[in-house]
Amino acid sequence: MAERLIHILPEQVASQIAAGEVVERPASAVKELVENSLDAGAGRIDIAIERGGCARFAVADDGCGMNREDAILALRRHATSKIRSAADLVAIRTLGFRGEALASIASVARMTLRTRSAGAADAVEILAAGGEIEEVRDSAAAPGTQIEVRDLFFNTPARLKFLKTAAAEQSAIAEAIQRVALANHRVAFSLTADGRVMFDLTRAASPLERVRQAFGAKLALRMLAFEGGRDSVRVRGLATMSQESFASARMIFTFVNGRVVRDKLLARAIAQAYQTLLPRGRHPAVVLFLELRHEEVDVNVHPMKTEVRFRNSGAVFEAVYHALRNRLSNQSDGASDRVADVSVASAVPIGNAIADIAATPARASDLALRDFPTPAVGVARMEPRALRLVPDAAESVATQRALGLGFAAAGDPARVDAHPEAGVPMYSRLRVLGQVFAGYIALESEEGLLLVDQHAAHERVTFEKLRAELRDGRVRTQAVLVPATIELNPARAAQIHAAMPELRAMGFDVESFGPASLVLKGTPAVFGPEGGAKLLSDMIDSIGEAPMRSGGESAFENLLKQLACHGSVRVGRVLEPAEIHALLAELDRTEFKTNCPHGRPVHIRFARGQIERMFRR
Ligand code: ADP
Ligand code: MG
Repeated sequence: MAERLIHILPEQVASQIAAGEVVERPASAVKELVENSLDAGAGRIDIAIERGGCARFAVADDGCGMNREDAILALRRHATSKIRSAADLVAIRTLGFRGEALASIASVARMTLRTRSAGAADAVEILAAGGEIEEVRDSAAAPGTQIEVRDLFFNTPARLKFLKTAAAEQSAIAEAIQRVALANHRVAFSLTADGRVMFDLTRAASPLERVRQAFGAKLALRMLAFEGGRDSVRVRGLATMSQESFASARMIFTFVNGRVVRDKLLARAIAQAYQTLLPRGRHPAVVLFLELRHEEVDVNVHPMKTEVRFRNSGAVFEAVYHALRNRLSNQSDGASDRVADVSVASAVPIGNAIADIAATPARASDLALRDFPTPAVGVARMEPRALRLVPDAAESVATQRALGLGFAAAGDPARVDAHPEAGVPMYSRLRVLGQVFAGYIALESEEGLLLVDQHAAHERVTFEKLRAELRDGRVRTQAVLVPATIELNPARAAQIHAAMPELRAMGFDVESFGPASLVLKGTPAVFGPEGGAKLLSDMIDSIGEAPMRSGGESAFENLLKQLACHGSVRVGRVLEPAEIHALLAELDRTEFKTNCPHGRPVHIRFARGQIERMFRR
């Protein structure tokens, strides 16, 4: 008879496996502890970490605390005070409910839990390691709970290996706390990393004040309040208007009934509200609070509780989209007239204009929304103007159709360009017909009509220049006239300081300036002396999005691609004839000119025969 193969795993092993779902990294453990503090009604939560939480993290609150028996129970799996039966799952009002967090963390670390409930005379202290309670003793402490965790994953070496650098883990923790802090502005939060205070957010009167505390006055000034929804779905929040944009989506924060949630539907509703208002590849800053009846949303979808399921996702999408869209269509800020000037280019040859182009968004955003937070009333003015500023692919095709231009196959490059092998044209020799939709240069050749994507073209030109410099030794740096100070999000500062060697290798002459700022003294020469600060900010936004330190040339090449992308002229920018000619001449001198560094085509050809056939000639 064959030997039995199946056996029940020991409790310890089962716990460690389950812990993997809740405690992925220090940041997820810290988030769980902070959520417990919030559920306990804390008014102040202090977090301390060492080596990005890998060595130690501790969360202390002034919440309701626990009595001795509860504290011992709390470390057991499926031990919770927040629900009693399956029926309660239908309407969860607390952040926690699964009763797993403390058990999970305790099973993969060494934990000290000290807690005192409001009425109790003394505190109790529990020491646990690898899921086993080692000691329970009386202790002295103020009412509330302090949980200290050391040596996370000490008994699960496989997990330990997956931890990133201390700097990256520290940033992840700080960002997790920032997110929770945005949703709970009335609670004070502090974060101390390796003995240094990273932030200390006092109780705030409003979400906007919390934004100011966490991200600085500059961003807070640029955010307008919005509101919307109906019946049981309410939406409110803060959003930057179309003059402001970021290179990554990490300044978009979404909360559902006070819970930090990452949700594709919400992300899509936000992106769609901004469609045509921001250049492609750029993102707004949004703090979005969605409130709906607890029965309308299932929060028990994901062990980390960062995903939810909506009962009526259509209504949620509509509510978010319209609330934002209505606000964006009426950005009455007194500066709109001047903002519109942004699209008017100066007649500088493209080689020098690059810096100018890169600087443009910065200039636009300096015309800030000073009179915030006065809600806008009156004329809905910007829609057509903004469309002209930053057209969008879908819109452009629609416009083409409306104008009867009949590029019927425009959405299908394979059909349009019947002869992609027809050879690489000498772009500068072709007759320039003009610029289309502020994004494409129309050219006439013997064989047909050519549309050149100005961003893709410029991106390739810039990227090849950077790559050539690198081959010759290093990316050339040009000193800026006046060194600029760049404020960093304190949550991300450690990670950015750690990325300084890469930033320098890309041609930025940067130095640390205090814990959360940099001084910029020189920028990659390819982009000219202006606009470097904006370019650096964009690169900083992108840090951590793609793996920075994976080593090897291709990782660095990815960074150069990002740099070329951020520094290149965007779709939406009206080009002067001189700039068009300069760009085409540069393109002719460039290798791999038929595609941008990300692989998108630089031009699409409409063959003459094809056009004639469409006219039935
Ligand atoms: P859950 O939060 O899902 O209930 P946890 O494992 O996170 O599960 O916590 C278990 C229980 O321990 C909670 O239900 C709560 O009663 C108690 N608890 C945990 N942290 C705290 C705290 N900071 N203050 C008071 N009680 C706490
Ligand atoms: Mg919990």
